Amino acid sequence: MRLVLLGPPGAGKGTQAVRIAEEFALPHIATGDIFRANVALETPLGLQAKAIMERGELVSDEIVIQMVQDRLDEEDAMRGFLLDGFPRTVPQAEAFERFLRARGKPLDGVLRFDVPEDELVARLHGRRTLEGRADDEAQVIANRLAEYRDKTAPLEAFYRDRGLLVEIDALGPVDEVTARTLGALRALEAAGA
Ligand code: AMP
Repeated sequence: MRLVLLGPPGAGKGTQAVRIAEEFALPHIATGDIFRANVALETPLGLQAKAIMERGELVSDEIVIQMVQDRLDEEDAMRGFLLDGFPRTVPQAEAFERFLRARGKPLDGVLRFDVPEDELVARLHGRRTLEGRADDEAQVIANRLAEYRDKTAPLEAFYRDRGLLVEIDALGPVDEVTARTLGALRALEAAGA
């Protein structure tokens, strides 16, 4: 299966992604993880992305699109993939659609994790204390949520129009969200994905 996970920061996407990837034996491709690894290694890509990430802003479409395309052309992604954190803007989604069309490999589904904004803010502040994530300072949290609202949320309509959007209620215990997610994916599979 070729899947995309969509949801605001703090929606629990990353946790669910690891579980889905394991259950369906898919490579879990998290653009945020790739950027953080590049920052840690101080690669040219990491040096370009570091300051932008620290402000909670989005890295340029051009950079992200190229990075994802290169990753998807690797052998392990030929059978399918689970993308976590991409696409995040309409131009990214359009470029991605052209890329998949050129390869004759359309998406099977876009899972959208739904959590109310006050809960997201509470979760992000909690995560900052637990993980000491530098990008989760108060202003940065506000920036990340604003970036989602302005640039990423329009992808919900983009994928709904294409009949690909699957909405998951992401409130409640993590295991329950996993059960809902796996149920939705089995339904997708049964429908011929
Ligand atoms: P994440 O862990 O998915 O929240 O990503 C961490 C940071 O990496 C984001 O706040 C962005 O600065 C950057 N990033 C990750 N994915 C993308 C993307 N698809 N487009 C632009 N920036 C991204």
